[in-house]
Amino acid sequence: MRYPWLVPGASFHPDDDALPALVRRVFTGLGLRVVKLHSSVGAFSPADRRLEPLWASAASEGVPVLIHAGQHSPGDTDASELEALDAVLSAHPRLRIVLAHAGHPATAAALDLMGRHDNLYADVTPVWLSEIKVTPEDLERFAGRFLFGSDAPKNPVPIADQVARFEAMPLSDRARIMLMGGAAASLTDGTQRNEVPHGTSSHPRCPETRYIREKPDPGRSMPRPWPSAIQPNSFRISWL
Ligand SMILES: [Zn+2]
Repeated sequence: MRYPWLVPGASFHPDDDALPALVRRVFTGLGLRVVKLHSSVGAFSPADRRLEPLWASAASEGVPVLIHAGQHSPGDTDASELEALDAVLSAHPRLRIVLAHAGHPATAAALDLMGRHDNLYADVTPVWLSEIKVTPEDLERFAGRFLFGSDAPKNPVPIADQVARFEAMPLSDRARIMLMGGAAASLTDGTQRNEVPHGTSSHPRCPETRYIREKPDPGRSMPRPWPSAIQPNSFRISWL
């Protein structure tokens, strides 16, 4: 494989025909190891019962599911929409769900949900220009369950600025390392988060797992404002 550190992924929709067979083919036939769901683009709720085969297979196969749960522009989530995840997380304790944007702006509700479910993770990618309202205390409390950059790398906030925000926080080494790749590595490796070694910022399978410290190349940056055809939320996933 030319890029062995890349993690191939898939997306599903409740309307997909024969979803159980499709999920089986994707996980066992094609070997895709991460799922992204987008409730807004797909106009569906995580509570849709037709997704049940996906939850069950993702749990048994150890495939993490990143979900953008909110259905509001430009990517906002209501606390009521997060509650749809409560039953899914309870019914499938081995299923690892990553909540995109930590449910912004319903971050408090998302943190509450994380407190109730060890199998809920959260991503800190901004929603368009709005940063996710997490504190260093939040990141320490749930160290190992916060991920940087797992949703929507096509975001107008320069990635170096996003990194700088978290580097400026008084975080423990463990919380910072897990945020900046360790948690993602544990999810895609099939290992438990507590088994990821402390004190390293790189993943043995993924030499590119590291902080991105470089300033972006101005010649390669996207125009601002972005063309309206480009949406702030992307199906592309970047496990850093
Ligand atoms: Zn998103």
